[in-house]
Amino acid sequence: MINKAIANILPHLPKRLVRIFANKYFSGENLSDALRESKKLNEEGCSVTLDILGEYVSKMEEAEQYKIQYLDVIEQFSAANITGNFSLKPSMFGILLNKEACYENYREIVKAAAKHNNFIRIDMEDSSCTDDEINLYLRLKKEFPGRVGLVLQAYMHRTLDDIKKMMEVHTEASPLNFRLCKGIYVEDKSIAYKGYQEVRDHFLEDLEYMLLNGIYVGIATHDAYLVEKSMELIEKHKISKDKFEFQMLYGVNPGMRRSIAGKGYSMKIYVPFGKQWFNYSTRRLKENPNMVWHIVKAIFIRG
Ligand SMILES: Cc1cc2nc3c(=O)[nH]c(=O)nc-3n(C[C@H](O)[C@H](O)[C@H](O)COP(=O)(O)OP(=O)(O)OC[C@H]3O[C@@H](n4cnc5c(N)ncnc54)[C@H](O)[C@@H]3O)c2cc1C
Repeated sequence: MINKAIANILPHLPKRLVRIFANKYFSGENLSDALRESKKLNEEGCSVTLDILGEYVSKMEEAEQYKIQYLDVIEQFSAANITGNFSLKPSMFGILLNKEACYENYREIVKAAAKHNNFIRIDMEDSSCTDDEINLYLRLKKEFPGRVGLVLQAYMHRTLDDIKKMMEVHTEASPLNFRLCKGIYVEDKSIAYKGYQEVRDHFLEDLEYMLLNGIYVGIATHDAYLVEKSMELIEKHKISKDKFEFQMLYGVNPGMRRSIAGKGYSMKIYVPFGKQWFNYSTRRLKENPNMVWHIVKAIFIRG
């Protein structure tokens, strides 16, 4: 209850205060920060997926600016020889304003990534975007096989059906490529599972379906139970290591990421950066079971 109350007041706290305990969840405000942190992660044996913070633009001009930024990120990232790829939120490119223009923005970015033999992951946002984001993925996959992937959320009732429907375009030469996560947005119980164990059960059901059908999957979780059960499924079905990877967020449980990577599994870290850090970081703070302690520490101990 205290966590919930604090979560509600976060947006009203001074940004300078929130920044103190939000810092650990993003790599910095500038690309140079993200490249520096990515190199460190590469040295640790992890690959990265870079994300420019920002979402839900209100004008297509803003989307155009973000596109230009991403094109620059791709060039500099490639020149720095970093191992990893890029994650993009469709609402940053105007999916809720103009689907066609959003598609064109993505198209240009995927094309630039493909030139460097690289890959773009389409993040999944709230349920008002689900259909459009699936369609965006399918359209881009057709034009750029192997260069684009999508995120799916285990908490959505529809997810397993969505995966089954997308099997129509799954081939050995161009497999489906998903990141599977629990899902972060607040959705109505008529469309989303709400129970903690219920979401975990559906995560594992979706994951098993993907693994058994040769879909590439990024297993995105910090939940020790899910990590252990995922490893059991991988072992049970003898899934080869080039068919999946584990994924975690920058700043969350580095001990766990080292332990997973130490067992010989591929580990990718989602590395956000940029000036629009507030919304992203407060979402992370709300998920942190020790948030109350962090805030008390920030207010009273660090003055
Ligand atoms: C790489 C990656 C990409 C993602 N992309 C998307 C996306 O596109 N769309 C989407 O809806 N969601 C996305 N998510 C978020 C995801 O949906 C979950 O909200 C988030 O990962 C928390 O779920 P969990 O599986 O880690 O389990 P939880 O039950 O939330 O966490 C398990 C344990 O991990 C630790 N932990 C979790 N979060 C924190 C934190 N912030 N600080 C400290 N400890 C923490 C705690 O010990 C907690 O008990 C992504 C997650 C990852 C890892």
